[in-house]
Amino acid sequence: MRKKIISLVCLVTAAAAVSAQEVTTTNSDSLRTAVREAADSVKQDTSDVIVIRRVPLESGRTIDDDMLVVDTIPSSNEGVSIVLFNDNTWRYVRNRNVSAEDDTVFTSDWDTVKLQAYDIELKDMPVSVVIDLVDSLKSYHYPIIGKINSKYGVRRRRSHQGTDIDLEVGDPVYATFDGRVRISQYQNGGYGNLIIIRHDNGLETYYGHLSKRLVEPDDWVTAGQVIGYGGSTGRSTGPHLHFETRYKGQSFDAERLIDFATGTLRRETFLLKRSYFSIYSKFTQDFDEEVKSEAEDKKIAAQAAAVQYHIVKRGDTMGRIAINYHTTVSRLCQLNGLKNPDKLSIGQRIRVR
Ligand SMILES: [Zn+2]
Repeated sequence: MRKKIISLVCLVTAAAAVSAQEVTTTNSDSLRTAVREAADSVKQDTSDVIVIRRVPLESGRTIDDDMLVVDTIPSSNEGVSIVLFNDNTWRYVRNRNVSAEDDTVFTSDWDTVKLQAYDIELKDMPVSVVIDLVDSLKSYHYPIIGKINSKYGVRRRRSHQGTDIDLEVGDPVYATFDGRVRISQYQNGGYGNLIIIRHDNGLETYYGHLSKRLVEPDDWVTAGQVIGYGGSTGRSTGPHLHFETRYKGQSFDAERLIDFATGTLRRETFLLKRSYFSIYSKFTQDFDEEVKSEAEDKKIAAQAAAVQYHIVKRGDTMGRIAINYHTTVSRLCQLNGLKNPDKLSIGQRIRVR
């Protein structure tokens, strides 16, 4: 495993060794070749690819504003492409046409009109859930950097379920993580122009009071994409971004994830506890305890990632399951001790990792 990780690092170096001038639309062949060859070398063993995929990016890594996509190269995994940027860095990106089709995060409880898409009571929520924020398939970008005007919590006897960040009208507002736009609409008297994005890890982020919305429901967005411009629409006393983080409809303090003064992501893996959904539960209260438990959180996340199952549904084939979980049919057969991959029955539990 270690060797494979090193080869991935070499891949970045190989790409970086090609000078910026060489990366033009007509002359990116050498870079393409370097990246493709190195990527193929890590993809020979699919189980290793999955391990590498889960190695997190260096802490706080974001996509720069001036990074442009130079090229997109297919990888040997149909569900994942390699995107090259103009600064010679690259990252894996999900091919949504392939991997999203059966991704229940973006199909179940999916409502592009009603803000509250979930029908789960707080008492029925899990006591805690591990949320992967960034890894090599999940990127982060701050929504906006600025002074906090108003924090999550009770404000003048009303619940304020988001964080208000200062901005100027027209400032670009960015998608925080990759995902799909669920809501893009005007909310009279409340959020004003509101965008809600659901992310691969199940989190939703809310962006309120925008002066302009640039995305529509069902659009796929990547972290760092400009989704709208800051404003003061709806119930707002001045230009700011009302930003919320929610899980299955329940809000929690966004400052647990993001330091808005610097734009940095505070952690790569987040253990979201049910107690955080209380409007009285604030980031600053238990941060020391959270930092101490981060190592434990990562261990739980690694264990959860190590084994994963899929329940066979009508229409499933081994090939489709393999694509959706970024693995191969032979690997699935090996994991499940199956001799005949064509014999699947509905309700059967298949180990996919
Ligand atoms: Zn607010």
